[in-house]
Amino acid sequence: MPEGHTIHRAARDHQKILAGQLLTVSSPQGRFTEEASLLTGQFCLAVEALGKHLLYRFKNGKTLHIHLGLFGRIRKRKLPLVEPRGAVRVRLVSSTHVIDINGPTICQILAEYEVMKLIKRIGPDVLRSDADPDLAFNKIVKSKAPIGRLIMDQSVMAGIGNIYRSEILWRQGVHPEIPGKAINRQTFDKIWDDAKALLMIGVKHNAIITVNNTRPSKSRYQERVNIFAKGTCPKCKGAIRRFEISGRRTFVCETCQPFGVEIERKQEKT
Ligand SMILES: [Zn+2]
Repeated sequence: MPEGHTIHRAARDHQKILAGQLLTVSSPQGRFTEEASLLTGQFCLAVEALGKHLLYRFKNGKTLHIHLGLFGRIRKRKLPLVEPRGAVRVRLVSSTHVIDINGPTICQILAEYEVMKLIKRIGPDVLRSDADPDLAFNKIVKSKAPIGRLIMDQSVMAGIGNIYRSEILWRQGVHPEIPGKAINRQTFDKIWDDAKALLMIGVKHNAIITVNNTRPSKSRYQERVNIFAKGTCPKCKGAIRRFEISGRRTFVCETCQPFGVEIERKQEKT
């Protein structure tokens, strides 16, 4: 599953090569032919990311909505056109590039009011300048669910995927199993700000990098993260515990992320 930074990077990239142009839209695989006919020959206004959703906005008021899900993938090439590879659901062609999208979980056309509904349904996206962190905090402090689940719940806040989840909570010293209602505003702000900073680095380098001052191009994955899929904490050299939250692998250093601290902090304040 791509994390938020991958989708924002794709949006930024596609904005450059598609926006401001008349596009040719087709469905080589055939499953989106009728819908594609509503977009082809239309002027693309903008491409934006909303959490893990991609929105291609057209001047005729229609929006192509893509969610890649677990198996979807995007291929981008410079023209000339080549034969589609595999089952290409939708192909977007500009004056310079072709974008093929295979196997998305969601591929549909939305009217403007449906885009608004989608925006309402998804929590604030840490990478968007119009995101309102209060919306996420208000949901978190009303929830008994563990913070490790809440920050990955796209209806609470959007952008954080499984690797970032473990990394951000470790960086901020927050145990993933602490219930949302025990998280105070200061801690939430630290999580939000760190998520934003790390995801921005992710977009820039097209890689998950959570270790400070590491070199993105020369370092391998294991050197770019602190605790995800690792055995030892880089800070205290203690053992990393591995468990699951909502069926996804989670990692924690119980020394650097003690369970009790947050609850005590909250009690002190009240
Ligand atoms: Zn540690």
